[in-house]
Amino acid sequence: MAKIIDGKMISQQIKDELKEKVESLKEQGKTGALAVIQVGEDPASSVYVRNKKNACAYIGIESLAYELPGETTEEELLGLIEELNGKERVRGILVQLPLPEHICEDKVIQAISPDKDVDGFHPQSVGAMTIGQPGFLSCTPAGIIQLLKRSGVEIAGKHCVIIGRSNIVGKPMALLMLRENATVTITHSKTKNLSELCKQADILIVAMGKPQFVGAEYVKEGAVVIDVGIHRDENNKLCGDVKYAEVEPIASAITPVPGGVGPMTIAMLMNNCVQSIEEG
Ligand code: NAD
Repeated sequence: MAKIIDGKMISQQIKDELKEKVESLKEQGKTGALAVIQVGEDPASSVYVRNKKNACAYIGIESLAYELPGETTEEELLGLIEELNGKERVRGILVQLPLPEHICEDKVIQAISPDKDVDGFHPQSVGAMTIGQPGFLSCTPAGIIQLLKRSGVEIAGKHCVIIGRSNIVGKPMALLMLRENATVTITHSKTKNLSELCKQADILIVAMGKPQFVGAEYVKEGAVVIDVGIHRDENNKLCGDVKYAEVEPIASAITPVPGGVGPMTIAMLMNNCVQSIEEG
């Protein structure tokens, strides 16, 4: 029986710690707001944006909502970002992705001032993370590091295999595990012998975006399994990239979906906002 890594509980702990920190920063006269921009009305994005606003309210920081119509031009969006970059009160700027097709995401990400890039997606943030300089860390991978550390999973010297090499999960995850002194293998859609490689992992991190793909044949007895995937199954129930029922008996610890990695992303976003207020 694996230990269940409870992301809901750990993210709540982090938000409670941040709430206290926000109080003490207020006493020092340090406050600030997170600007959350949504373009269009994608229902999934609306849920994420609402959760982010609620998290801000919970820890006690102001959120400014910019709900722009789907027809907003790239120029208009870049103009708004420039305006927010110049506002001292705004300590974080978040543009909810994905954006409508007529807007270039890369241009938008690069328009955000790196000192307000609380998603950690700006090339400067990614570069700083790569060479171990201060900056905002990408929220989902940073959340996974917290999940592991706060669950007492030792990382140093362990072999970590990551499935997926996206810019928002796989690649930054590899860098952060390396920073924690793991030996890291990155796998992707062109990797040969995927299950053999995964079976060597002490810590297996699955971020491939394929519902219930990873079964028992990918997992070494006693491995720690982190499931980043989020999907709806045929019964409209949330599930991950891992076949949970099959893998749980083999693993020593595992994250469930929901209630594993998901809640950590917002907690780490809040962490970045508080860091920005502190440094601002
Ligand atoms: P992505 O589609 O950008 O990347 C998927 C990666 O998996 C790619 O690098 C690809 O090479 C690899 N891959 C695909 N098929 C493969 C295969 N058969 N074998 C080996 N590798 C394969 O996805 P992403 O943005 O990294 O997200 C991954 C999953 O995590 C999605 O389900 C997404 O919804 C979820 N996600 C969750 C959170 C969270 O907060 N919990 C945050 C971000 C993403």
